[in-house]
Amino acid sequence: MSKEFKNLETLCVQAGYDPKNGEARVVPIVQSTTFKYDNTDTVADLFDLKSAGFFYTRLGNPTVDALEKRIAALDGGVAAVATASGQSANLNAILNITKAGDNIVVLNNIYGGTFNLLGSTLKNFGIETRFVSSNDLEEAKRNIDEKTKLIFGEVLANPTTAVLDIEKYADLAHSHNIPLILDNTLTTPALVRPIDYGCDIVTYASTKYLDGHATSMGGLIVDSGKFDWTKGNYPQLTEKDESYHGLVFTEQFGPAAYAARIRTVYLRDFGNIAAPFNAFLTLIGIDTLALRLERHSENALKVAKFLESHESVEFVRYPFLESSKDYKLAKKYLKGGSGVISFGIKGGREEAAKFIDSLNLVSLVVHVADVRSYALHPASSTHRQLSDAELEKTGISPNLIRLSIGIENVEDIIEDIDNALRA
Ligand SMILES: *Cc1c(COP(=O)(O)O)cnc(C)c1O
Repeated sequence: MSKEFKNLETLCVQAGYDPKNGEARVVPIVQSTTFKYDNTDTVADLFDLKSAGFFYTRLGNPTVDALEKRIAALDGGVAAVATASGQSANLNAILNITKAGDNIVVLNNIYGGTFNLLGSTLKNFGIETRFVSSNDLEEAKRNIDEKTKLIFGEVLANPTTAVLDIEKYADLAHSHNIPLILDNTLTTPALVRPIDYGCDIVTYASTKYLDGHATSMGGLIVDSGKFDWTKGNYPQLTEKDESYHGLVFTEQFGPAAYAARIRTVYLRDFGNIAAPFNAFLTLIGIDTLALRLERHSENALKVAKFLESHESVEFVRYPFLESSKDYKLAKKYLKGGSGVISFGIKGGREEAAKFIDSLNLVSLVVHVADVRSYALHPASSTHRQLSDAELEKTGISPNLIRLSIGIENVEDIIEDIDNALRA
């Protein structure tokens, strides 16, 4: 980008695309899978990664590129890679620096889909996941050994809303020459830029707040460019890659080596890429990200306070409640708490189901983080694959309800919740 902007609201609208004289003002949707060249030498250089340019949409596309540049600018990273979904973002981010025989240390309160991926599926590929309790630094420390390749967690955990102490985990990771990878899906750069606090790689399900309207699956990986791969044990990045005639990623791409390898090896081989149309919709979503997250956070805090004072409610988890154990961390790291609240209804599974079935404006969907208000019962849906013991460990009780507060009028939202609680 030729223009340099700094402030969040401006970057949300302007970053990633700078049209030249007479070009489309809005990022165009380039559906073409392929790109034309005048001679074979140019194409050969592209294939050998000696020059940058589009040649096949599996490895890069102008619409997707604008989205990647925008999120990199928003997060303060050197490069970003867009993928087909949040799942594929976390998969690529982790596989990029692990192989059979390695292990990873993972905070256990992560999203259910990621829990399955890391705890169950990756095991079949010989990568061991060591789950550790959230904000218990000593437990994480005890689990790191010479085969540990990274620490992974969520900045604001979905659905428990626990806030991670980013600086402490970054320091721990760096003292072992391994990177900290954080999923920033629920907070987005509108509420926190994890790289500012030492995080090395940031991932997203752009499916959630970045798109913000529940219209496009997508994932993003942002490379801070700050981690020195040559200090750790990362042969994928520091040794010769046979599929590129012995190219060494850290030598060829410098600080952007990590992101470059995901694109040129994993998008090339796995093909779990972002679709140009989804990238276009996500860019439109990000235009209003700063505004939306402000309103989501404001509405959710009001709803959380209402719930806290309600006689049918056992507990409320929202980081910006003064009663929250995460209040200090939230104040330190976050500009707002997002729209996600979890609370326990008095009673158990049955009462939780009755509450959700009685809602009217707030709808039952398996989704969070778009403009509409939603409710979900994790124990019978997103987390139903977990045993009671596993549920216990991740902090999800059978009576827990997850709310995703939208940008509707907050009085209308509260009235609906109040009616359902009475029912
Ligand atoms: C939804 C979600 C994912 C997975 O994203 P998909 O786009 O559904 O694949 C990963 N992490 C978090 C925190 C999520 O909320």
